[in-house]
Amino acid sequence: MLRRALLAVSHSAAIRKGITSAPVTRDVVERYVAGDRTEDALAVAARLVGAGLSVTVDHLGEDTLDRAQADAVVGAYAALLAGLTDAGLAKDCEVSVKLTALGLALGADGRAIALENALRICAAAREAGTTVTIDMEDHTTTDVTLEVVAELRRDFADTGAVVQAYLVRTEADCRDLAAAGSRVRLCKGAYNEPSSVAFTDRHEVDRSYVRCLRVLIEGAGKPLIATHDPTLIDIATALLARARRAPDSYEFQMLYGIRPAEQQRLANAGHPMRVYLPYGTDWYGYLVRRLAERPANLTFFARSLVSR
Ligand code: FAD
Repeated sequence: MLRRALLAVSHSAAIRKGITSAPVTRDVVERYVAGDRTEDALAVAARLVGAGLSVTVDHLGEDTLDRAQADAVVGAYAALLAGLTDAGLAKDCEVSVKLTALGLALGADGRAIALENALRICAAAREAGTTVTIDMEDHTTTDVTLEVVAELRRDFADTGAVVQAYLVRTEADCRDLAAAGSRVRLCKGAYNEPSSVAFTDRHEVDRSYVRCLRVLIEGAGKPLIATHDPTLIDIATALLARARRAPDSYEFQMLYGIRPAEQQRLANAGHPMRVYLPYGTDWYGYLVRRLAERPANLTFFARSLVSR
């Protein structure tokens, strides 16, 4: 209920202003976001890689309103990829990209603009010796995002796709995607979706996640298992062992700042563990989704606001 309510009101300008201008927000942001600048992302990435983890870096932003802004996002990824190369981090750090940040919502030309910009980032990533994963956004963008990923994969076969277990369609999408050479990140899903397309009961979402896990782990591609849920991690570990999956044929993935001890435990146990590391000034949408995921975060946030 709380999750839905927060995601629903998050588009209000007043709520946005209230959250972004509250002094305590900075403390909460720092828990989940590397910092404002490329150098901040590089410094945190270096620390994580030093601890035996790999990273996927996300330049925050999803409300690109014109071509110039989309170009600036491509420029930011180019600078990030150059920085990763110079720091010797590109082998262990890839990038995650949202198509809306690349111009997907720019009217009739949006799809073509986003594809062209994604191709530029994929080329820069290849130059750096690393890969790109295309994040998944709300369900109105699922078809176009999967189509763009398929087009990117013609030239850049290692481009990763993301699927969301809360969508009813996703088990079928997993069957389509679990082919040799694919990289598929499976997450629960973070947007406010209607019951016409999504499971709304969390147990149903978990059961869907397990069905999708089975398809991906028994398939021929590389499953990227993105969850912090202890039960799902246990189930995934058992399924990986049963399928005799070698460590280079899958990854666990978690968000920066969430269950860091568990991230380290999995890495120490020999599982490839990749941390999703966002950075940049446009953190509002990302922060709201993290607050909405866990009522305790909201309580903490509300208490801090009151006690200041
Ligand atoms: P939950 O049931 O939400 O959480 C399980 C446990 O994890 C909780 O009990 C708690 O201990 C801990 N936890 C979870 N969230 C938080 C939090 N915010 N703060 C503190 N503790 C927390 N979603 C998309 O829609 N599109 C994407 O492209 C996408 N990419 C992702 C990439 C990665 C690497 C990861 C890990 C997640 C991604 N997500 C994406 C988010 C995902 O869909 C979920 O919203 C998020 O991961 C929470 O779901 P969960 O599987 O961890 O399970």
